[in-house]
Amino acid sequence: YCDWSSDVCSSDLSSDLQVTPDFMNKMQENPEFWLKEYGKNDKIVSRKQLGERMRTGKLFVISGPSGTGKGTICNGVLADMEGMELSISMTTRSPRPGEKEGKDYFFVTEEKFQEIKAKKGFLESAGVYEHSYGTPKKMVMEKLDSGKDVILEIDTQGALMVKESHPEGILIFILPPSLKVLKERITKRGTDSEEVISKRMKEAVKEISVADRYDYIVVNDELSVAVDTVKSIIKAERNKEIGRAHV
Ligand code: 5GP
Repeated sequence: YCDWSSDVCSSDLSSDLQVTPDFMNKMQENPEFWLKEYGKNDKIVSRKQLGERMRTGKLFVISGPSGTGKGTICNGVLADMEGMELSISMTTRSPRPGEKEGKDYFFVTEEKFQEIKAKKGFLESAGVYEHSYGTPKKMVMEKLDSGKDVILEIDTQGALMVKESHPEGILIFILPPSLKVLKERITKRGTDSEEVISKRMKEAVKEISVADRYDYIVVNDELSVAVDTVKSIIKAERNKEIGRAHV
């Protein structure tokens, strides 16, 4: 890793490194200042050496039509990357077979949902397929404050709301290889009626129409490739500010 001791960080170096004088001054006062501000970068400075995490986490938002495999992609990313947590949403829909309270969703009544919404307890909320869905604000903020990155797996209405309130949030859209493949995937899942499938397909087209407002678009043709791509995006975003500090 790089040793940012003050003699290494002489001002002569600032021109070579093309960093601003302000960045260099801060570096000389406290060689580790940037870790507090720019944080997670195990490859450059070992965070473990400094004990506690000192950064605010990053907010990643993943959307895509139902059946694109965004849930599977999120699970793949979470299994492979340290310091990432999934936000568990609240919903008023009933659990599907196998879904667990507090793991897949917090299942609540419409009354409870509206009560939380009125108290501004959601980071965002939206009506999807006649049900309400929302991201519990406190839980996400606590994770971010503790230095964890958080993934929200939410629909496009919610994602664009998050981008407005948290412009630093990173929006990733997962696209199916084609609408035909998407329909096959939804049908194979076997959890939805013909009517619901056709509704989901209409909704898919609507969601895809705002994909260009996302920061990244990833096509889920081959699952392992899509997981790797999302992981690469996260890795790049985790390292981004160090580059920005030079501007
Ligand atoms: P499902 O009912 O199939 O689990 O989810 C339906 C849709 O709701 C998916 O597109 C999913 O991403 C979205 N969704 C799940 N949780 C939230 C949430 O907290 N907020 C918003 N806006 N959408 C959500």
